Amino acid sequence: MQDLRGKTVLVTGGGRGIGRAIALAFAAQGSHLVITGRSQAALDSVAREIHCYDVTILPLSCDVTQKREIEDLKKRIASELEIVEVLVNNAGIAPAVSFLEMEDSLWEEVMRVNLTGTYYCCKVFLPEMIAAKWGRIVNIASTVAKTSYPNISAYATSKHAVLGLTRSLAVETAKFGVTVNAVCPGYVDTGLTQKNAALLAEKKGKPLADAFEMLKSASPQKRLIEPAEVAHLAVMLASEAAKGITGQAINVDGGAVMA
Ligand code: NAD
Repeated sequence: MQDLRGKTVLVTGGGRGIGRAIALAFAAQGSHLVITGRSQAALDSVAREIHCYDVTILPLSCDVTQKREIEDLKKRIASELEIVEVLVNNAGIAPAVSFLEMEDSLWEEVMRVNLTGTYYCCKVFLPEMIAAKWGRIVNIASTVAKTSYPNISAYATSKHAVLGLTRSLAVETAKFGVTVNAVCPGYVDTGLTQKNAALLAEKKGKPLADAFEMLKSASPQKRLIEPAEVAHLAVMLASEAAKGITGQAINVDGGAVMA
């Protein structure tokens, strides 16, 4: 996709898992990358992987729950790369706990990271996309933006809300050459899923391998999704060819959820 060469792409939570795969996929297209997260060491490690591509890579620590940090990030990007043309809101947390056992503080943290973090990044980076009359926002939601399972009430609520924000922004930005879409993965083979598989194994008193089989069996394809599969859809949605796609929430889940 030649049209992504030279574009500036910001990936939040770009130091590992799906965010890392998205950063690598855009680098392969020749896009310049800003990757953010909370661990500078993880970001630097992804930056080293990207150095083989002929692109600029800025690995910058930034907590998406802190609007001031995102505003400072924008100034730093402006001084080195001008404006963010593609924003991928990927940073997220997914603690598993039953509704009745969940502390209020956990509910609030999930909303702050998954929903308010996405909101802050859109709020800070959307105006320059509108001014440029071109922009792409890709929100990494989840299939639980459309359905739910036990023990993830905060996570599912936050991702449903991300979908609401995606659709609302899509209609408000459509006339400015900006598209806003959500990618909805099922279980992806990342550290987040490994952590939740370990919790599931502990709760059920079963071996870890059985917990992985349970997660895999949620998909008709009986497998976990690879981070690169999510990344390829993000790249496609950012391309010029996808200019007519906005306000959509596209599943990458092996057919688990058909809505
Ligand atoms: P992960 O835990 O491997 O990575 C999450 C990333 O988000 C990390 O880089 C972390 O540093 C970053 N992050 C967390 N809180 C942050 C904060 N306050 N500020 C900045 N960065 C922060 O998880 P993953 O599996 O790669 O998930 C990435 C996204 O995909 C998340 O939004 C998650 O909800 C979504 N998702 C994951 C799965 C899955 O099965 N793994 C499925 C559906 C959706």
